[in-house]
Amino acid sequence: MVTPTDTRPPAALVTGGGRGIGRAIALALAADGHAVALSARSQAEIDAVAAEVAAAGGRALAVAADVTDAADVGRLVARVTADLGAPLVLVNNAGAAASHKLDGHPDDLWHRMLAVNLTGTYLVTKACAPAMLAAGWGRVVNVGSVASLTGARYIAAYTAAKHGVLGLTRALAAEWARAGITVNLVAPGYVDTPMTDASVANIVSRTGRDAEAARAAITAMSPQRRLVRPDEVAVVVRMLVRDDAGSITGAAIPVDAGATALAGTG
Ligand code: NAD
Repeated sequence: MVTPTDTRPPAALVTGGGRGIGRAIALALAADGHAVALSARSQAEIDAVAAEVAAAGGRALAVAADVTDAADVGRLVARVTADLGAPLVLVNNAGAAASHKLDGHPDDLWHRMLAVNLTGTYLVTKACAPAMLAAGWGRVVNVGSVASLTGARYIAAYTAAKHGVLGLTRALAAEWARAGITVNLVAPGYVDTPMTDASVANIVSRTGRDAEAARAAITAMSPQRRLVRPDEVAVVVRMLVRDDAGSITGAAIPVDAGATALAGTG
């Protein structure tokens, strides 16, 4: 069994690490001494984050891959293992959101949401699992959403996918409970990232409101009346992957400025 605290922390793989929440997680894990592998579809984005990690004195590798493509994922994990060592810390962050009412819902939107948010998490976890099982140690953190925990209008596909990620989290936490591997989910509310910028643009185009009013409608969903910052999600991930966080498994931790737990309090 490896004892990561005896030596350097193990390599960490962060999918969707090119911007937003993934970027913040990568920077935080690098600051804690992990060599960090960044993956996303766009090489330019992950190169930029890798340069930020290096400028801060950390070690990073940027490998473009599509998490929905099993062959791509296999190449990604092989490359990370060869260059940094087996990624015993995995953060499944790659994701995408889109909205549509069910009446007239495009089937390709359904399949796309399931593929990137749920199947991608499954494929990358499956590819990293053999090394974790062999080591007798691993940390998997899935970036879900408040949509893993609650329902909301017009996001059926995203909500189904993110609920699925919670189910996968709990099933694997149970499967690996005695294997030294923890599997947890963080459930952000609206975070100040390009994904939320896209939600604002969507509200603007559908309702004709201006961007400020659209953003205010989103922040009004949180009792703290604000967006979550990406580093506020990263701090939870940072905690969950520590060696001494080994008793936390199968958990779903909201990072949502009170939106879930305080729903209905205004
Ligand atoms: P973002 O759009 O800013 O970044 C998403 C990242 O995922 C990008 O790096 C993108 O390249 C990557 N990605 C998308 N599809 C991919 C694919 N098929 N293969 C590989 N990489 C892919 O999003 P974000 O706001 O930083 O969100 C990150 C995660 O947090 C997502 O899983 C999202 O569902 C979740 N989340 C975000 C919010 C929010 O308000 N922003 C709220 C709750 C949950």
